[in-house]
Amino acid sequence: NFRRAQRIQSLEISEIVQLSERAAYLRAEGQDIVALSTGEPDFPTPPHVVAAAHSAALAGKTKYPATLGTPELRDEIARQAGVSRARVIVSTGAKQVLANAMLATLDPGEEVIMPAPFWTSYSDIVLLASGTPVVLPCPVEDGFRLTAERLEAAITPRTRWLMLNSPCNPTGTNYSEADLRALAEVLRRYSQVQILIDEIYDQLSYVPFTSFATVAPDLSERTLIVNGVSKAYAMTGWRIGWGIGPAAMISAMGAVQGQSTSGASSVAQAAALAALSGPQEFLLERREVFRSRRDMVVARLNAMPGVTCSRPDGAFYVFPDIRRAMATNGFESCARFCEDLLEQVGLALVPGRAFGMPGHLRLSYAYSEAELLAGLDRLERFITHVR
Ligand code: PLP
Repeated sequence: NFRRAQRIQSLEISEIVQLSERAAYLRAEGQDIVALSTGEPDFPTPPHVVAAAHSAALAGKTKYPATLGTPELRDEIARQAGVSRARVIVSTGAKQVLANAMLATLDPGEEVIMPAPFWTSYSDIVLLASGTPVVLPCPVEDGFRLTAERLEAAITPRTRWLMLNSPCNPTGTNYSEADLRALAEVLRRYSQVQILIDEIYDQLSYVPFTSFATVAPDLSERTLIVNGVSKAYAMTGWRIGWGIGPAAMISAMGAVQGQSTSGASSVAQAAALAALSGPQEFLLERREVFRSRRDMVVARLNAMPGVTCSRPDGAFYVFPDIRRAMATNGFESCARFCEDLLEQVGLALVPGRAFGMPGHLRLSYAYSEAELLAGLDRLERFITHVR
């Protein structure tokens, strides 16, 4: 007679994770599977980062960490952001920063505005915290961008947060300084709205990156900037992310964290410190590799019948529109398209539905060129021969 709590009635493991696990299962069964479904750099964690973790463990940094993060790591993050340590919390991945923020601030039914497409977990984390996601579809015609008009029309007295991701997963959309200025202009008029800007792909920007913090310093008392080492430094498994916000908000998030994880792994925090304070040149080299993969993937997708793909300015995803290819092949849902794609040609891609925008696919190009080429060949074969 197991019964789920009301709060999590519809909560499931992320569709992206489920799909990747299904692909891994089929592969373990001996099937020939290409998965381009995960947002995880194929590069290794840099050796000097691994060495720092090893040294920290040998030096006995294996005790409970301070709840909000080790002073060394918080200070380095604070130094780079030009803020005080009290404005920084280190958590078990950027995902936990998001969860802490929502759990620390939302009362039941309070609204969180999120432009769609959004990273799958945004809406689920809000639901987990008993909030109400308010999804604003931002179609490709707007470059998948939230416009100031659309934002203003969605704000109500119950709006507690705007959740924005730039560069964006899954579209790669990078908000320019002008875009952010226009949004800030609206936000200045609504003091009940706090602003969460997820900048976890800031190092993977193919045009100059602008942080919301520099565009609207006057809003810093209600802004939370989220970042982490997972994507830039190829450290997804180390689980270190952080939030930079007003001290009272950080302290409330610390209370949630203190009663859930006690704080992020001390050894992983030593590794993250080495990543942030060590050499940075390899980031540029890796970014150039991602850029050339992006160009190759976009060109190939646009050459496929019924597929249209814009060229994103950031992150390592493309989000092609497949509505014409779906219609030609008799598919009504992109989720069904992806299921058949996996079963029939052994290619794992994530349906747009998982990001709040059906009729699209997300392809991650954080994979080797050989895997990308194999995946693109399979997609083309599927689209041209399926029925
Ligand atoms: N934010 C966005 C937009 C992401 O795409 C991801 C991971 O896919 C995360 C946050 C989570 O990052 P972390 O591994 O630090 O929890």
